[in-house]
Amino acid sequence: MTAAPHAPLASHPTTGYAAVTTDLTKVYGSGDTRVVALDRVSVAFREGDFTAIMGPSGCGKSTLMHCAAGLDTADSGSVRIGTTELGTLNDRQLTELRRDRIGFIFQAFNLLPTLTALENITLPMDIAGREPDRQWLDTVIRMVGLSDRLAHRPAQLSGGQQQRVAVARALASRPSVVFGDEPTGNLDSRSGAEVLGFLRDSVRELGQTVVMVTHDPVAAGYADRVVFLSDGRPVDEMVRPTPERVLDRMKAFDTRARTS
Ligand code: ADP
Repeated sequence: MTAAPHAPLASHPTTGYAAVTTDLTKVYGSGDTRVVALDRVSVAFREGDFTAIMGPSGCGKSTLMHCAAGLDTADSGSVRIGTTELGTLNDRQLTELRRDRIGFIFQAFNLLPTLTALENITLPMDIAGREPDRQWLDTVIRMVGLSDRLAHRPAQLSGGQQQRVAVARALASRPSVVFGDEPTGNLDSRSGAEVLGFLRDSVRELGQTVVMVTHDPVAAGYADRVVFLSDGRPVDEMVRPTPERVLDRMKAFDTRARTS
């Protein structure tokens, strides 16, 4: 075990972290339907690390990821991407930050059906009117093994290949951090392993930072670290996880749920 994931921000230097949340709180509903989705969550994601976020259904994983990625706002607390506090940005600046410094990979690939693989990969940069860094783009496309599929449309690609396009799209702008929401949730185990391998390669070989929500211990086994959430709070973390150790930790949640 390393330092608790909810260690106070003061213990995190302002450099060396791709994303940091501090005391992030989000409450849904009120009265009988009140749900504390995030309960003062302070968690830091080091640059060049691959982190998996796990925990029982409803523990706040998606809410944390959406708030950390600037897709949703918390009720209180703060989010920093690199040295930028999201709370200090106006809507336009936030949109630009999401476009330029954050990559997203969703469970449902979210590709545009009328565009080719290459056009999908470069779409965010095309919208921004920005020339892609050709060398970087070639590296990313080669890494995810799409060089001979670039002219295909999503319907002409397998699920695994479509998700590889989505991975390449997320990496193409060389973002500070890539967030994945169950990125292998729609894939068979072989395609899932490929996509996870590419994500890990992007961390190891390209220095990318990746944060992935998953409920799958095998997927978490690809990460450098797992942060476990329960009831909207980080409760544990594991470095160099293996699927077996993650599964054992998840069973402890199940046991607790049965006995509480
Ligand atoms: P997880 O991703 O771990 O399954 P979520 O972050 O989706 O958990 O949800 C955390 C809690 O917040 C759950 O109890 C969920 O029901 C609640 N919640 C999430 N989104 C909403 C919403 N839009 N309205 C009301 N409650 C929500």
